[in-house]
Amino acid sequence: MQRPALSLIIPVYNEEANIAELDRRLKDLLREINETWEVVFVDDGSQDRSPEMLHELAAAEPRYKVISFSRNFGHQAAITAGIDRAEGDAVVIMDADLQDPPEVVMQMIQKWREGSDVVYGQRSRRHGESIFKRSTAAAFYRLLRMLLPIEIPLDTGDFRLMSRRVILSMRALREQHRFVRAMVSWVGFKQTAVQYERPERFAGETKYPLRKMMRFAIDGITSFSIVPLRLATWLGLLSGLLAIVTSAWALYSAIAGQTVPGWATIMIAVALAASAQLIMTGILGEYIGRIYEEVKRRPLYVVADTLNLPPADRSPPSVQKTGDTPEASKKTR
Ligand code: UDP
Ligand code: MG
Repeated sequence: MQRPALSLIIPVYNEEANIAELDRRLKDLLREINETWEVVFVDDGSQDRSPEMLHELAAAEPRYKVISFSRNFGHQAAITAGIDRAEGDAVVIMDADLQDPPEVVMQMIQKWREGSDVVYGQRSRRHGESIFKRSTAAAFYRLLRMLLPIEIPLDTGDFRLMSRRVILSMRALREQHRFVRAMVSWVGFKQTAVQYERPERFAGETKYPLRKMMRFAIDGITSFSIVPLRLATWLGLLSGLLAIVTSAWALYSAIAGQTVPGWATIMIAVALAASAQLIMTGILGEYIGRIYEEVKRRPLYVVADTLNLPPADRSPPSVQKTGDTPEASKKTR
């Protein structure tokens, strides 16, 4: 079968109240786009009528495809399953609750045609979300920006368009704890934004309760940053300096005879031992950080283009199973 020009990936978790409206809005959009397309719904172990509803829709529309998980594996896993199976030249990830308006996809496609590989939706305003959610989200993205070694745009979610070569590069990232939006930044290529106002959820409740959101935030930081592991080194060096000052002071007080016997010895021993331990913990942290980077088995680099070189005769192992390399796909775009 020919590959479609556009794939939409839509993770669905207990969204029965949204599916009919989503279907209607999608069909409006896809009629307008005038390209070949597919929609890959990923049912993330819904317990409501979502899977039946998706199956009914897909029975009537063969370009609707459904992947059903055996249980709830989480939003990021659902997106990943979509990335693994979407075949379009351009692939868009969007939520099922219509918070990512299908109409914005038109603008994304426009930017993609103008040569962008990634077009992310940037929220200029968010409607219908609590002040708590908005302010924690804002603080979180600013913290991430400070901690992560890669540039990630502020106020963006997973709503974005990716070209096929970005998708193929994403498939090579097989880490367990997945923070997809930063992984897309890591992959590189030309990335641009479209601004949009994020509307309220069409129906139903958020599927990200506080507990899941915390987990997600921790994943975001720890899957890209080893800064927390380095904290011990810095604290160790700081307490080392303090230990020297404390020791000098304790020694001086002892010699001046202002202390009870043994006090200075204990002070000096405690101060030195504490800083030595922190520094050692920091050194362990450095090695653990390196082990962590290694076990992720990320590709060492991502090639965008080559010139005057034959096509790579062997793709990196993780890309091989797609039967396509990022370079090869470029010609098809
Ligand atoms: N979702 C999912 N699995 C989950 C939680 C959410 O597939 O475990 C889907 C959900 O159906 C929706 C998208 O991910 O399509 C975003 O979730 P939600 O709208 O609840 O997040 P929010 O917009 O409140 O951050
Ligand atoms: Mg939502």
